[in-house]
Amino acid sequence: MNRSISQENPPVRAPFGELFTHHMVTAGWTAESGWAPLRLRPFDSLPMSPAMVGLHYSQVVFEGLKAYRRDHGVIEVFRPTDHAARLNRSAQRLAMPPLPEDKFLTAIDLLVAADQECLSADPGLSLYLRPLLYASEANLALRPAREYTFVLIAFVTGGFFSDKPSPVTVWVNRDYPRAAPGGTGGVKFAGNYAPSYLAQEKAQQAGCHQVVWLDPMERRWVEELGGMNLFFVRGSGPGAQLITPPHTGTLLPGITRDSVMRLAPGLGYQVREEPVSVDQWRSECREGTITETFACGTAAVVTPVGTVRDGEKTWQVGTGAAGAVTLAMRDALTSVHDGRAPAPEGWLRTVPPAGAVAGQA
Ligand SMILES: *Cc1c(COP(=O)(O)O)cnc(C)c1O
Repeated sequence: MNRSISQENPPVRAPFGELFTHHMVTAGWTAESGWAPLRLRPFDSLPMSPAMVGLHYSQVVFEGLKAYRRDHGVIEVFRPTDHAARLNRSAQRLAMPPLPEDKFLTAIDLLVAADQECLSADPGLSLYLRPLLYASEANLALRPAREYTFVLIAFVTGGFFSDKPSPVTVWVNRDYPRAAPGGTGGVKFAGNYAPSYLAQEKAQQAGCHQVVWLDPMERRWVEELGGMNLFFVRGSGPGAQLITPPHTGTLLPGITRDSVMRLAPGLGYQVREEPVSVDQWRSECREGTITETFACGTAAVVTPVGTVRDGEKTWQVGTGAAGAVTLAMRDALTSVHDGRAPAPEGWLRTVPPAGAVAGQA
């Protein structure tokens, strides 16, 4: 199925990632000529040889970022240069050519300017942008491809789980590590996701929403939650501490994680990167040392963790409801998104109005 909003009348709020805006932006790269100019075109299927490298060997990386509409109609994109840099770190790990930052930004300008009417003024909505870079050469040789395609598509979304953050129940996965040391877990490589679905199914069978990923070596240290990063709260009120697992190479350095770390001191919270084991998580919740846990990511924003299941053991985090620090952190982040609070330097990029986007190069 290939649905775009234009086929729906009136436009509807669809489930996450199901109904796309009218257009897409594409650009090709070849070893001989480098990058071709960006093209804004109607959202449609892409041509694909059955021998395409990306399909067979997963030489594919992606990003996910959001754009928000302001009261006066202007649209701003959240931390696009950081997403451009991460796309290129991912590309480098997969032996793919980098996409110049100005092309990444211009692609966003073109698509957002063309499809801005898809994003209504409802402050609960945002435009989720999905840049994708894949090996489009038709060749089954085991070597990096010599042709790539960049594509940018978008869809309208609200909060990932719901507009009000209801706490999720999470399942500790001990059987299927997401990432390996020296592997690809630290980059947004498409091949990281399908191997996580079996664990996700097990979590759902256990009545849980999301999978807690542990470190792959000792299977003891908490790393991530689904496609989100995790924070543990010690204490309460101003002076509370936010603890997040350190970069190990096996967890994905989220831009939301970084945003939380940078906004937290403004609310009086201290932030520390420190490993937390599953056993520690359980015992500190029981003692009341860990008072809250939340997950964060572009799609989910900030989502409270209410209950944890680890095999036969089940425990509640705090009261099991969204905690005050979690809600304050969510509000601080969404205030920057919405323009209710000033953004740190360089976080927001205003999309020029349609027609003003510099040449499609
Ligand atoms: C994308 C992603 C995140 C969150 O990154 P953000 O930049 O905050 O959206 C966390 N973990 C994984 C595995 C991811 O793919």
